Amino acid sequence: MSNAPARYAVVGNPIGHSKSPLIHSLFARQTGAEISYGKELVSEPDFAAFVETFFHNGGAGLNVTVPFKRHAHALCGKLSENAARSGAVNTLYPIDGSLAGANTDGIGLVRDIRDNLAYAISGKRILLLGAGGAVRGVLPALENESPARMTVWNRTAERAAELARAFDGSLAVTSLEALRGKQFDLIINGTSGSLQGHRPPVDAAWLAPGCCAYDMVYADEETVFLRWAREAGAGLLSDGLGMLVEQAAESFHLWRGIRPDTGPVIQRLRIGV
Ligand code: NAP
Repeated sequence: MSNAPARYAVVGNPIGHSKSPLIHSLFARQTGAEISYGKELVSEPDFAAFVETFFHNGGAGLNVTVPFKRHAHALCGKLSENAARSGAVNTLYPIDGSLAGANTDGIGLVRDIRDNLAYAISGKRILLLGAGGAVRGVLPALENESPARMTVWNRTAERAAELARAFDGSLAVTSLEALRGKQFDLIINGTSGSLQGHRPPVDAAWLAPGCCAYDMVYADEETVFLRWAREAGAGLLSDGLGMLVEQAAESFHLWRGIRPDTGPVIQRLRIGV
């Protein structure tokens, strides 16, 4: 048997900004594991061949990020329930000669909101902004928390309607007009505009008292969505750094059977060392 460290990587395009190698190296140190974890920039036509070669050469696990989560789903012989329901995979690993796919984004989001921020999701009115891979991936885990209802708004209405069809009526699709007079306890920004300074067309009237505003995007500075939410009087604000660490911890657990302690890793990334 080879003594080489187990080999993992995150694959996406772009990928330069990814904090996953740092997070997984901190998990490995914490749990006494010997692993290597790289970043792989792959073009769309090469994705399937890259995955096949990676596992053929003994790779132990891959994380998959934008824009490949749907592509990864199509390659899997086995799917976790969340991955099957969401149609998106962010974690790949070999099982019994087959490629297994899971989606840990939703569990990551739920653990960050429910456990780290101590904000119960059960019974809450949730508004999700965006209908891309990230929102698709988190819906099953949010649904498992029994919110009062989940509503999605997306810039491209047809994409939101397609998502609602995939979720069998448990998700309401809305327009900005229909949102007039409505209030929410939890507003989750799952659009990718934040990094370019674009905030979705939000309205302070949507914030129920104590509303939690959560931006899946993480950045060193306050995002435009969180600045708006703070100025509009939201009760609780968070970016997506905790979600990032929690989804990584769930991937690590699937790969290695041990769950790392996420608190010190989140803290370490927050202070940027
Ligand atoms: P995606 O599949 O490319 O979808 C992007 C979404 O953003 C679409 O709904 C798109 O609307 C919307 N959008 C983009 N620019 C917009 C703008 N200027 N105004 C309004 N809506 C806009 O991307 P994704 O995979 O869903 O990722 C979304 C974000 O979540 C990314 O920033 C990603 O980094 C973040 N994320 C974070 C974590 C974490 O662990 N913290 C995990 C996953 C994703 P249209 O359909 O109209 O184009």
